[in-house]
Amino acid sequence: MKEHEIRPEALLKRYVELSARDAETCFKDAPRTAVPCVACGGGPGMEQFAKHGFAYQRCAACGTLYQSPRPSVAAYEAFYRRSESSRYWAEVFYPAVAEVRREKIFRPRVERLAAMCAERGFAVDSLIDAGAGYGVFLDEWRQRFPQTRLTAVEPSESLAKECRAKGFTVVEEVVENAKGLEGSADLVTCFEVLEHVHDPLAFVQVLKGLAKPGGRVFVSTLGIDGFDLSVLWERSTQISPPHHINFLSLKGFARLFERAGLSDVVVTTPGRLDVDIVRNAAKTDPSLLEEQRFLRALVEDEAAGAAFQGFLAANRLSSHAWVMGTKP
Ligand SMILES: [Zn+2]
Repeated sequence: MKEHEIRPEALLKRYVELSARDAETCFKDAPRTAVPCVACGGGPGMEQFAKHGFAYQRCAACGTLYQSPRPSVAAYEAFYRRSESSRYWAEVFYPAVAEVRREKIFRPRVERLAAMCAERGFAVDSLIDAGAGYGVFLDEWRQRFPQTRLTAVEPSESLAKECRAKGFTVVEEVVENAKGLEGSADLVTCFEVLEHVHDPLAFVQVLKGLAKPGGRVFVSTLGIDGFDLSVLWERSTQISPPHHINFLSLKGFARLFERAGLSDVVVTTPGRLDVDIVRNAAKTDPSLLEEQRFLRALVEDEAAGAAFQGFLAANRLSSHAWVMGTKP
């Protein structure tokens, strides 16, 4: 898989521009409050950089990168309701790559997640997907495991409609307000949401509330210890306020899940794009790796780059992280 297959260059560029504009227009006068580390609760963090008026800190204790001082939840909710970049993502960007993502991301995701569950010897009779989007993950899961009871939690009216059209039970709410699902799932999944949420601890606790005792909570998100984020840092297009505000470290993921009351926390990084992301960034801005001769040669060599990507994934060094914990 290549970055531009799932994030076409022109669409990504436009999305980054709109996000930068939203950061200014939606948050210009928003009061901001310093927050403790979103993973371990420690603080204060060490100032790192500001991007589009949003400052980021790094936790001295666990290494997590997080946006602080942070505008209020209300400011973020208003932003997600009316922002141009969010609309562009939902109406232009995502539809353009939906089918590629189904094949390259969602189908392998089902296989890998099902294998993780099987290795740990637990059966998934019921599954809740929080932030189900277009319902593609659930659709792929159903094709593979038609007997699982599947529920989509999706706050967006248009996306909830997409999930219903695919025949899923849908709770049209943010997961925090999803009633009647407490303690009902063997597996609660949440893909690519944690990096956006205002309070990751409260969020993971809500996910845990949906799981049965002995059930699992699974999250995929961006991890700051990974290759492309560590190399590119504030120049990464993934560090895109107001959208992405939490980049946990490996240690931070473990601490967050433990603080939420989950046990047997497993963190892996099965990412496949780190090398390609750095390669593309260096093409756009050759100064990035100017002094990094070895890295430049490595990412420019297709075969060595592919082998290196495998190494990153196998050694928890990719920026795409999977975290699973068990509800006692
Ligand atoms: Zn921390």
